[in-house]
Amino acid sequence: MKTLLSFLFVLTVFCPYAQPLAILNARVVDVEQGRLMRGSKDILIINGRIAQVAPAGSLPVEDITFIDATGHYIIPGLWDMHTHPDDPEVWWMGPVPSHRDQLMPLFVLYGVTGTRDMAGSLEVVNDWRRRIRQGALLGPEIIAAGPLLDGPNAMWDGSVSIADASRVKPVVDSLIEEGIDFLKVYSGLPREVFFTLMDYANEIGFPVVGHIPTEVTTAEGARAGMACQEHLLDILTDCSREGERIRRGEVEFEQAKDGLQRYFLRNKLIMDTYDEKKAEALFREFARHNTWHTPTLSMWYKNAYYEEEAEKDSAYWKYLPPHLQKYWGPETNVHLKYRQPEVLATKRRQLEFYLRITGEMHRAGVKLLAGTDTGANPLCWPGIGIHNELELFVRAGLSPAEALKTATVNPAEFLGLTSDFGTVTPGKVADLVILNSNPLENIRAVRDIEAVVRRGKLYDDKARQAILAEISTD
Ligand SMILES: [Zn+2]
Repeated sequence: MKTLLSFLFVLTVFCPYAQPLAILNARVVDVEQGRLMRGSKDILIINGRIAQVAPAGSLPVEDITFIDATGHYIIPGLWDMHTHPDDPEVWWMGPVPSHRDQLMPLFVLYGVTGTRDMAGSLEVVNDWRRRIRQGALLGPEIIAAGPLLDGPNAMWDGSVSIADASRVKPVVDSLIEEGIDFLKVYSGLPREVFFTLMDYANEIGFPVVGHIPTEVTTAEGARAGMACQEHLLDILTDCSREGERIRRGEVEFEQAKDGLQRYFLRNKLIMDTYDEKKAEALFREFARHNTWHTPTLSMWYKNAYYEEEAEKDSAYWKYLPPHLQKYWGPETNVHLKYRQPEVLATKRRQLEFYLRITGEMHRAGVKLLAGTDTGANPLCWPGIGIHNELELFVRAGLSPAEALKTATVNPAEFLGLTSDFGTVTPGKVADLVILNSNPLENIRAVRDIEAVVRRGKLYDDKARQAILAEISTD
């Protein structure tokens, strides 16, 4: 109660860079070492950056807005490394710009101060970035892919189709010109186009991430220099004793009555023939080529258990813009099309495999990123989704400290932004989350947020609740 009261004395100032701010008597999590910094600390923030992290009691605080964070724990702002706030999959529903905008503060209010935008309109993303920078919109840092690079029959609106290798260079050059930060390849990209694109990207030193194209194995993607692969796609195929034959189309699923059953039988065979030796060799290959992975475990989880989870998450629906409230329902959502008991059983078994291989890849030295796939995928919440993802990393066998890294130091390292983000260190951007309990003891602590600091501006509980109330459709 005492600490809660002390938070009430804080003035929340609404300007791009708030006045200097001091956070006193906090326990600070050293995410790199996976332990608390020794003793309580005072943190001084000036011009949106951390100026000092000093022993408690050593900062002069006259004329400075300060908060007493006794009994609280401070972590760096979290990064969601797989987001689609402007998901092309829902463009046909005609999202209203102001509805789309309301997703931005949701990230920050739940502790996500940085995102990797994995496809959406570059115009929308650039407009968000501009307004966030100016302080006109509360939102996270955004590192963006722009459009998906898909094959001739692109799956989603807004994708760039590359049917033959000769188009690779002009497409890549013009996207870089438009301001993308990395290239995102998609499932349907033809094999020859993929390798041409990798050669060109390597030549100009531009990162490529995304879905492993279905015509390429995950090991080939790693060897070709993909910086990161998403959703663990096709890893189980490449860990199966039958993997090569399945890929060559040599395995007949004669009993299959339709495409769905064929898919179901294929997945079942892949899991039945999981080969630990193949898996070990593949994970060594990922580690050797420094191929990062974003498993998006919470996306798989929410899909496998949608019915129960929709019920559990019912309190959050009111923060979703109308187009997503509608699209996340089972009547409209493509990802919820098949819910027959045998399909659900396969999805749940697959989830267990994904948890297992995430833990195994981690132990093999493969670097992991926390990402939620928030956008069209149901129950992958902006903000809260990252808490779900971190909990699943712990279920996969990471310690809470290791899980925290996947949303703090790992994203900063992956993006080459360690001088600005990832740790609570003087000189870095003051993006911080103040928690009510110790996340190193229980990762669930990341849900229990007392306040968020975004570029030096404090959003205490009162400010957070006020903005959430504005967003709420209730
Ligand atoms: Zn995605």
